[in-house]
Amino acid sequence: MSSLLIDNIGELVTNGIGADPLGVRRKVAVLVEEDRVAWIGPAAYAPAADHRIDVGGAAVLPGFVDSHAHLVFAGDRAAEFGARMAGEPYTGGGIRTTVGATRAASDDALRATVRRLRGEALRQGTTTMEIKSGYGLSVADEARSLRIAAETSSETTFLGAHVVPTEYADRPDDYVGLVCGPMLAAAAPYAKWIDVFCERGAFDVDHARAILACGQAVGLGVRLHANQLGPGPGVRLGVELGAASVDHCTHLSDADVDALAGTAHSDGFGTRTVATLLPGAEFSTRSPYPDARRLLDAGVTVALATDCNPGSSYTSSMPFCIALAVREMRMTPAEAVWAATAGGARALRRDDIGVLTPGARADLIVLDAPSYLHLAYRPGVPLIRQVIRNGVPQ
Ligand SMILES: [Zn+2]
Repeated sequence: MSSLLIDNIGELVTNGIGADPLGVRRKVAVLVEEDRVAWIGPAAYAPAADHRIDVGGAAVLPGFVDSHAHLVFAGDRAAEFGARMAGEPYTGGGIRTTVGATRAASDDALRATVRRLRGEALRQGTTTMEIKSGYGLSVADEARSLRIAAETSSETTFLGAHVVPTEYADRPDDYVGLVCGPMLAAAAPYAKWIDVFCERGAFDVDHARAILACGQAVGLGVRLHANQLGPGPGVRLGVELGAASVDHCTHLSDADVDALAGTAHSDGFGTRTVATLLPGAEFSTRSPYPDARRLLDAGVTVALATDCNPGSSYTSSMPFCIALAVREMRMTPAEAVWAATAGGARALRRDDIGVLTPGARADLIVLDAPSYLHLAYRPGVPLIRQVIRNGVPQ
């Protein structure tokens, strides 16, 4: 068994039990055996190991868990972004532009884009990244999108219900039938989750409920896009179906917040349904940010993710999302870092990632800084000095 000692850590974010929410420990070392954390303790008592990395007093964190990304697509929509910044509103209609380009692309072209963006995210500290389909919207194109996504991530999500494609514009019921029938059958072998864009202009609550129930029936976990562009029933539908996460949560009523808070675990472990906030989308569509403070104060578990996609949030950077959450959404730096690591893990119902405790997966990042605070304090600066994933320096 090979071992690796990460030594001379000035500040270690564990997200484990501790006096503060991040479980910060100082002047420690971490021993990694194979792909797991084996030991954490004072640097002065560090055991011998096959390999040693001296981080020189730097901060070390769990790798970021980006629980919401759309990486399987072709083309870009920079011109649409430019027009939006010149004053045109965002409606979600540009998704169909990407669908056309994606259908026309070869497998190799799609694969190259997924790998490029996954690599980009990894260099910025993301050690787990969920990947959705949703730009194919035909049986064959959704299945191949997920097949390609599954080459890169085990957290794959079937989003055949992203929008109704143009050829079904007059008969959305037929499209829902296709999604629940042959498309789900073709996609499910490569998917762990099912997702629906439940929003005006996309899928209404009855269609969303029907599609998510079909996915649950074949063993997929539920997550959904809800309450992004306006108020609506999406969040409460997610709670009703026991979703792992409801994503966006920009326009929430008191009833929505109460419904999320009502999914709290009895042991104080947070809520069963996580609210995943995607501030890159509000940034890129120049829209009001979600009210993270309101959710946190109600006891709702909050995650942060990038929503990386070519239309409404073309960033793969979790540090950027942390900085936005602190500056624009009134989260503390500690809350934002927790949400980008342990929060993302909860949104994927994982307890082996997003934490650095003995037995956890050895996914960690070394900052070019003495404290996690620098992730928000020094926005836009490349602070990820080293990434270790599955115990392997990248
Ligand atoms: Zn999304």
